[in-house]
Amino acid sequence: RGGGHLVVAEPTGGSVRGESALEWISREYDLERGLAAGEFEPFFQPIVTVERGELAGFEALARWRHPERGLVAPCEFIDLGEKCGLIRQIDLKIMAEACALLRKAAGDGPMPFLSVNLSSQHFTDLDVVTGLAERLRATGFPADHLKVELTETALVQDPVTAYDVLCRIKDLGVKLALDDFGTGYSSLSYLHRFPFDVLKIDQSFVRELGNPGRTHHIVESIITLAGRMGMEVVAEGVETEDLIPPLRDLGCTFGQGYHYSRPVAADRMAEMLDR
Ligand code: C2E
Ligand code: MG
Ligand code: MG
Ligand code: MG
Repeated sequence: RGGGHLVVAEPTGGSVRGESALEWISREYDLERGLAAGEFEPFFQPIVTVERGELAGFEALARWRHPERGLVAPCEFIDLGEKCGLIRQIDLKIMAEACALLRKAAGDGPMPFLSVNLSSQHFTDLDVVTGLAERLRATGFPADHLKVELTETALVQDPVTAYDVLCRIKDLGVKLALDDFGTGYSSLSYLHRFPFDVLKIDQSFVRELGNPGRTHHIVESIITLAGRMGMEVVAEGVETEDLIPPLRDLGCTFGQGYHYSRPVAADRMAEMLDR
């Protein structure tokens, strides 16, 4: 695990998206090469208060600056990284770089929070706890301004170990966010049993707020429930201005989406903080 071992073929002998074993191996070598060459970097997407539209934090989102393919989005390499075991290195590299860049950009000014994504592969043992602690120390980033985002997938396979990992991450002073809520399992028992501080409502739900109907009631109930449980709520995928009044009426604290800003490179993130 975590060592970048080659997976020559799928266990079934089949291949992903009709790729040959050769294509698969070469993509995997390329990922390993790109990681060693420092081609991965965080982009930053603002997370904004719904009430006043003020910048509160950023989510770090991985990008691969590929010498031939240009800027590559996570949907092109996260799966591959998970299959060949490199995802843990990618996640921690993005986390460390985002911490360093945001800390530098904030300078002596107010410190926004930083949200980072961790693959479900981190939640099968305690390695990630040491990994996060080391990088917090190395970058001097304040632990109480870091939020770790994970999806329910991370909790289903081995809930006992996952629970232990989450508690130890919280012991570092880091906050926990449940990402993409509304897709996947959406079991309310996860909210109840695991110590989440933040609930991120998936964009497929948020988009429906523009339409009258039952989804509106579901989102409203989720926001109310999260509030009663003392959690912050972030609405993902706020693409248009018309979504803001319903989110405000529902008492949703934070929004994130193209309406506010797309994910941007570190230099533009720093400009945003200067303004
Ligand atoms: P996510 O964590 O749910 O991140 C939000 C995704 O929604 C981002 O896509 C973001 O660019 C996109 N988005 C934000 N606002 C809007 C909007 O208004 N409309 C639409 N249509 N999309 C919006 P991105 O950057 O392509 O990342 C996709 C997914 O890849 C992320 O979903 C996350 O699951 C994963 N990912 C990204 N970076 C990392 C990483 O460093 N580690 C791991 N393990 N996964 C990552
Ligand atoms: Mg996320
Ligand atoms: Mg999400
Ligand atoms: Mg997502």
